Amino acid sequence: MNIRKFRIILLIILIIVSVYCFVTISQMAHHSESTSDNTTLTHEIIVNNTTESLGSVEVIRNVGNPNSKKIAYVIGVHPLENDTHKTLLKVLLSSSNLNYCYDIYIINVSENFSSYGQLLPDDEPGRDSGQNLALKYVYPLISKGSYELVVDVHAHGGAYPYDTFVFSPIDGALAESYGRNISQSTENISYYNPNHTTSGPYLTVPLNQHGIPAIYYEENSFLSQNIKDNHMLELIHAVDNIKF
Ligand SMILES: [Zn+2]
Repeated sequence: MNIRKFRIILLIILIIVSVYCFVTISQMAHHSESTSDNTTLTHEIIVNNTTESLGSVEVIRNVGNPNSKKIAYVIGVHPLENDTHKTLLKVLLSSSNLNYCYDIYIINVSENFSSYGQLLPDDEPGRDSGQNLALKYVYPLISKGSYELVVDVHAHGGAYPYDTFVFSPIDGALAESYGRNISQSTENISYYNPNHTTSGPYLTVPLNQHGIPAIYYEENSFLSQNIKDNHMLELIHAVDNIKF
């Protein structure tokens, strides 16, 4: 075989290998697309432009395994803390192979709210609006929704002894044991009840009082996005592995 023939054969082999790799990779990509979760996901506006003009409430249903037990996440009760709300949406919606079925209740406040690092303390009217929307529109739906657990996602400015923690606003409730379970099964999430919340009476306290376990997730707003993503991933996996 002369050098020219050898080069041609080598070129043909290279082309065959490239085509094979391309086909395999695109099949893999298509496979993961067609088998990913969330094919039954729905998006519903619960209330928009309320008469009080507080904002809107929406829900994304059936994230994860739609045939399994249901868990609710709530974001937006305190609009100022929206960096952590966005993190929950991003990480939960991109999680695959989840065991349970998740509904995400999203509160969008239209009134003013400040932003960490700019207008501390958080005393804009939007804070009350988020709480009022939670009590009026989210609480009734969750209390009728057959949920095993509710996680209300918040952020803080670093005034607590832990950056990242979960807690039940009522000591001794079933929610406390779920919260402690999450803390024990994660590296970076502590269990810590600050014993005072402004939003408790608007969502997590009445839920617990009516037999629906509801916990807070609190994240330090000043951590890097990368760390917040990792903590959120820990929360989502720990919740997804609780035995109900
Ligand atoms: Zn909050």
